[in-house]
Amino acid sequence: MPDPLIIAIDGPAGAGKSTVAQKLAASLGLTYVDSGATYRAAALKVLEAGIDPNNEGAVAKLIGGTNLQVKSSNGEPRVLVDGTDVTSRLRTPEVTLAAALVSRLPEVRAKLIQIQRSFAQGRGVVMEGRDIGTVVFPRAQLKIFLKADVEERARRRLKQDSSEGRKATLETTAYEIGRRDQLDAERKISPLMAAADSIEIDSTHLQADQVVRHILELLKEKGWAEPA
Ligand code: C5P
Repeated sequence: MPDPLIIAIDGPAGAGKSTVAQKLAASLGLTYVDSGATYRAAALKVLEAGIDPNNEGAVAKLIGGTNLQVKSSNGEPRVLVDGTDVTSRLRTPEVTLAAALVSRLPEVRAKLIQIQRSFAQGRGVVMEGRDIGTVVFPRAQLKIFLKADVEERARRRLKQDSSEGRKATLETTAYEIGRRDQLDAERKISPLMAAADSIEIDSTHLQADQVVRHILELLKEKGWAEPA
């Protein structure tokens, strides 16, 4: 295996990136990093400060002075904002939408990209997000672009939300996902797009374990892993 091995998994919301990235990291003994959690943490800080996520100047100033950290504790990713662990507060609908708004700002992206890159210093990672293969780690040894039909992504997100105690309908979930797809794909910097050298996997009709097996096969073809 190249040392450190960096695997980038990008794609739209609900395509299965987190589940696949976590399982893959566990089977390869690498660290899993959820880059979206850093944008969500920045969004939480903005909302709690009572600032409009569209107020670019105020958001940039606030986040510039905020201490954001990503840690791995017993294999579980944790996010700290000014020293406080906020991991359990990052998945509300308000934070989700605000994350897609604050992530459009160059100042915010520049700061968070440094944090994401520093996480991979000296260790192998499976990092998931929107711009990992294009911007954060353009030299990642393996880049996957994971996609799925929007209806299927909405169904998965709804299932995840209800298992975590949040109530929503398929219609509102599909609307929210469509809106985020648009914000993420249309923003000026680091829009959601597949890296030219990425391998696209459509997970619409695949279970997470099947996607993981497929990626392990790809790694084996490169001589980097045994298939499970
Ligand atoms: O992946 P997750 O849904 O947690 O990401 C929340 C938001 O953070 C995304 O909608 C996107 O706007 C932003 N994000 C990003 N770049 C990344 C990861 C997430 O812009 N690498």
